Amino acid sequence: MAAEVLAAGGAAVAIHDHMAAPARKFLLAGRGGLNLTHSEPLESFLERYGEAKGFLEPAIRAFPPAALIAWANGLGIETFVGSSGRVFPKQMKASPLLRAWLRRLDGLGVKLQTRSRWQGFDGRLTILAMGGASWPHLGSDAQWVPVLQAAGITVNPFKPANSRFLVKWSKVFRERFAGTPLKNVALTYAGHRVRGEAMISQEGIEGGAIYALSKGMREMPGHPLHVDLRPDLTAEALALRLARPRGKDTQSNYLRKVAGLTPVAISLLRETGNAMDAAGIKAVAVPILRPAGIARAISSAGGIARDEVDANFQLRKFPGVYAVGEMLDWEAPTGGYLLQACFSTAVAAARALLAGR
Ligand SMILES: Cc1cc2nc3c(=O)[nH]c(=O)nc-3n(C[C@H](O)[C@H](O)[C@H](O)COP(=O)(O)OP(=O)(O)OC[C@H]3O[C@@H](n4cnc5c(N)ncnc54)[C@H](O)[C@@H]3O)c2cc1C
Repeated sequence: MAAEVLAAGGAAVAIHDHMAAPARKFLLAGRGGLNLTHSEPLESFLERYGEAKGFLEPAIRAFPPAALIAWANGLGIETFVGSSGRVFPKQMKASPLLRAWLRRLDGLGVKLQTRSRWQGFDGRLTILAMGGASWPHLGSDAQWVPVLQAAGITVNPFKPANSRFLVKWSKVFRERFAGTPLKNVALTYAGHRVRGEAMISQEGIEGGAIYALSKGMREMPGHPLHVDLRPDLTAEALALRLARPRGKDTQSNYLRKVAGLTPVAISLLRETGNAMDAAGIKAVAVPILRPAGIARAISSAGGIARDEVDANFQLRKFPGVYAVGEMLDWEAPTGGYLLQACFSTAVAAARALLAGR
């Protein structure tokens, strides 16, 4: 994105990527539909960046979600707003967008140099966009960290963000339910409650609602995760339903009929030893071990300390060198907030670089 803004502004630009092909993680994000950004009002959108809001706000206001959508449309990619307010390309993948984008860059004279690793400052005007530390085999392997640290730049340790959490499931539960979603649930961790969906996986639990809580789960370990399997019913309404006689039904059939629970929900109650009553169904305590490793997290927290860059993401110690995207220390939930901040910081740095030439 920075290359496009620079080239459109008349600069001669080369992109160096150490992988054999560019944008591998962007393509992976496309497997989940490529959630480009979110349609909520800008004021609440900005809140999603938590304590990094002030750091990112000017860049996001200068290149907001509407500008990102217009940019995608300009590449011939139509977008739509999903039921959750998230914005996706109609094709629900990244490859057509990437193809059109690379054609545009080529047309602007941008040189793409693959298998070319950045190894240190060389005096050229540079925008670094080398990513965070998740999915390292797709390119963002954080090998730049020691280089920047050797140059006296503070890089806060990378930690998994929007990650799975490990739970020691029984073999029977794991084999039967790995890959099964718990739909329309509410999760509470250390007083924070979110509505959404979670997914049972081989090693634990993942999905949008888990990612939304993952910062607190990572920073404040040791609390149980409570799953409300029927968030639309009060405990009293549920208790009334459960007062109906069971008759000849098995317990599972009974819970399915009177409480509307799915097989995975009923088995989760059993697996965790929670009571099969209204209180149990409204707050299934799931023992969380720890976040799964960073290698499979959606994104990473940590990165170049915020006070190492100026308002346009220029490294204070290396004027003429900027750092954008996930390299910088901010985090956000899934919902399009990650790509939006990467695009917006890239545009801000490129515009500043052009203005300062
Ligand atoms: C499974 C998955 C799904 C996701 N889905 C979404 C989604 O739907 N919506 C969303 O907003 N976000 C999503 N994300 C997050 C999003 O993809 C990232 O936040 C975003 O790609 C980060 O962009 P970036 O440009 O900072 O870094 P990256 O996309 O990681 O790109 C960094 C590039 O730098 C290159 N590089 C690294 N080191 C060097 C070096 N030393 N020299 C040269 N090149 C180097 C890498 O090869 C890579 O091409 C998803 C992430 C994952 C893993």
